[in-house]
Formats: sequence, C-alpha cells, structure tokens
Amino acid sequence: MTQENAHVSDSSTSDVHAFMEGLRKRNPHQDEFIQAVEEVAENVFDFVANKPEYQDAEIMRRIAEPDRIVSFRVCWQDDEGRVRVERGWRVQNNNAIGPYKGGLRFHESVNESVLKFLAFEQTFKNALTGLPMGGGKGGSNFNPKGKSDAEIMRFCQSFMTELYRHIGPDVDVPAGDIGVGAREIGFLFGQYKRIRNEWHGVLTGKGLEYGGSPVRTESTGYGVVYFLREMLREEDRELDGMSAVISGAGNVATHAAEKFAELGGKVLTLSDSKGFIHDPDGIDAKKVAWIRQQKSSGGSLSDYPEQFSGSEWHEGKKPWSVGCDIALPCATQNELDIDAAKSLIDNEVLAVCEGANMPTTADASHALRSNGVLLGPGKAANAGGVAVSGLEMSQNAGRRTWSEDRLQEELCSIMKDIHRTCVEHGEGTGPACEEGECKIDYVKGANVGGFKKVADAMLAFGVV
Ligand code: GLU
Repeated sequence: MTQENAHVSDSSTSDVHAFMEGLRKRNPHQDEFIQAVEEVAENVFDFVANKPEYQDAEIMRRIAEPDRIVSFRVCWQDDEGRVRVERGWRVQNNNAIGPYKGGLRFHESVNESVLKFLAFEQTFKNALTGLPMGGGKGGSNFNPKGKSDAEIMRFCQSFMTELYRHIGPDVDVPAGDIGVGAREIGFLFGQYKRIRNEWHGVLTGKGLEYGGSPVRTESTGYGVVYFLREMLREEDRELDGMSAVISGAGNVATHAAEKFAELGGKVLTLSDSKGFIHDPDGIDAKKVAWIRQQKSSGGSLSDYPEQFSGSEWHEGKKPWSVGCDIALPCATQNELDIDAAKSLIDNEVLAVCEGANMPTTADASHALRSNGVLLGPGKAANAGGVAVSGLEMSQNAGRRTWSEDRLQEELCSIMKDIHRTCVEHGEGTGPACEEGECKIDYVKGANVGGFKKVADAMLAFGVV
C-alpha cells in the first residue's frame, strides 16, 4: 500500500465508523438493515475518498434512508371464518434511475428491518442490470405454509386493496420473492385490475397467459449459474466437471441446480428448513422435477432417499460440510455463517455464488474472501431475476411478447455485463490481497458498480 493510499484508507475507515454509528442510532434493532448497509459502506467510503462531489452531496446517507415506507394492516378471514390480522409493508428505497422495483415476500420472518435491507440491496442490484429500475421491496409476516388456495386468495386481495394506491407501472412495480410465486402474483394482479380497471404491467412474474415474460421463472437460478460460469472463466476454469452444494429447494435453488447439471456439473445437495438431501450421484433435471412436485404438493424432501437410492437425508442440518468445488446458497439471509465458511475453506471450495439475498453473514463473507474463496454477492449473482422482470416491463409497455430465445440471450448477456462491471471495480483490491493471494473482490465490484450508477443520477438531481 502506498503512503497516499494508506492515508485514504485510514480516513475512509473513520468515516465508515462515524456513518455507521449514526445509522445504528437512527435504526435501532434493525440488524439485517445495518448489516447490509455496513457491507456496502465499507467499499463505498473507500471509493468516494478522493471524490468530494459524492461526499459533499451525502449520497451514501441518502441511499441508506428509504424514500418512504408504507406500513398497513391486512385483515383477512381464514377457512373457519376467523378474522386474522397481519402487517403489510412496501419500502420504496430509491427511484433515481427508474420506478421502484423489487419483490414481495410473504414469510413469518418478515419485518421492517428485513424489508429495508432487501430494498437497499435491490437498489444496487437493479442498477447493476443496466436497466432503468429503482429499488424497492415489500411483503408481509403472513405465513403462507399450510394455507388453502382460498385463504391465499383472500389474503392477496386484502393486501392489494391497500397496496394498489402506492404502485403503478411508472411508480413502483412489485414482483415475487419468498412465499410469492405465480399463484400469488395472479391473485394480486387480478385484484389490482379489478380496483383500477386498468391493464398494465404493474407487477412482474405474471403468468404467460396474461403478460408474463418467457424465461422469468427460470431467470434467477439460471442467472446465478451464468454469473458463476463467468467467475470461473475469469480464473481460466470451466464449470464442466465441478461439484456443487446448493441450499434451498425453491424457485432459485431448483433452477440453479437444473442449469448447473445441464452445463456438466454435479449437484450434491438441496435443502429446506428441515434438513438437506445429499445425493453423491448428482441431482439431475429429472430428480429436480421430483423435488419441485414434492414441494408444490406440500410434501417433504425427507422422502427423497426412498425415490433415489444411494442418497441420504440429513435431518435438521445444513449442507455446508459436504465437500465440493462450489457452494450456491439459494435459501435465505444469513444461512451461511462462520462455521459453514470454515468448513467450505477446509474443503478448499473455489467459489461461493449467492442465489439468495445476503445469505452469507458478515464474518463468513470476510473469512471466505480472506482465504482466497471467490464470493459472488447476491446483488450481482442473483440479478437475473429482476433483469428479466425489467424486460417483462419493456414487453408490457410495448404490448409485445418476445421469443424465448431472445430472452435467454438477453439474460446471458446481462449476466456477463454485470460480471464485467464487478471485475472493473473489484480487481486487485480484495481482502486476500493482504495475504498475497489477490483475487477479484466481487463484493466490492458489485457495491461500487451499483453505487456509481445510482449516485451519478442523484448528483444530477441536486438536493432532493
Ligand atoms: N425478488 C427478486 C429479487 O430479489 C426479484 C425482484 C423482481 O423481479 O422485481 O431480486
């Protein structure tokens, strides 16, 4: 480190401390939000150290303060006629480069901190796609597990009866996330259309029959694997012949598994909240189809070994101790902790590529990168989903549907572009450089690349 750089780094470190102290004070008990902002702040303060234009305009402080948060009561009746009360939110984080855009999550763990972290991350992720989308996120602590279709419909209708006044195709365009798939988007869109008497692309992830885009369903999981392939190519390696440990069994995990296997890799595990499957023969497309069917009919993954001999079910455990070349955490936030990171490092894993949003804890992220493991952060690696959502918005606005081939190509090329941006801003700077083993710091690359795009737009607007 040169004398001058050492000085920059010291002063930016104290800036980060001061900034984080203020953030903690203003957002008490919001651990997930603080975690997400801190990871970005470390990189951004370094980047803006010699750039007074960003500092004077307090850009980072402004991006970390949502434009607005709407919180509302969602009342609905269950099949027994009982009145149930849940809380709904929409966090509109930043619309500098386009309408707010981001999914809705229905899960019992949802609270304001979780949605603020997701909306913050989404702002950077959407900027990285190169499409004109701002960042937002919403959802409810409603737990859809075990609910009937009729209950889900009544909940979605009630949720949209408040949400509709805060969204619009040029205002805010929600989509799915954990607990919100094609069925929920259908109910939400139906209610929006009924209230507004307008048909437009106000939600993405719609069914193909009513304005949805080809490839949207597969796009997040496929995109993760395309991003991973670029990371490996950058190191002159190929995915073909590699093994992967994947967590989750939802839309992202199953499509990542399918694509990883299609490109010649072997998928060793998939998991849910109850445990994980370990299949040393590899989980191929046929087995993935069984898992999807099992999950959608409310069944358990624990029946897998009965179907596919040679495999095992590990009750109550996570898959990170299984030896592999690649780890793809595709379930949820903070699922990969420091102990998991140590196992992966001991097993000499090459790369961790995040299909979920912030699945790696802060200490695990640092340990992985310091030990020369490539880490593709979710805001870059899983951006394929929202990217195809952006293309769904374009198709709806143009009243056209593009071909599947075109969308597959666009997804692939957007993931390559995101990878390029990460390399541009993350080269030669990672924590492993201090150990003399310099790898691209994709976390920094994604944070700086996303920040720059949003920040430059904000500068153009003046103080607003
Ligand atoms: N929920 C997804 C994400 O985390 C997709 C958002 C969207 O398509 O708007 O990026």
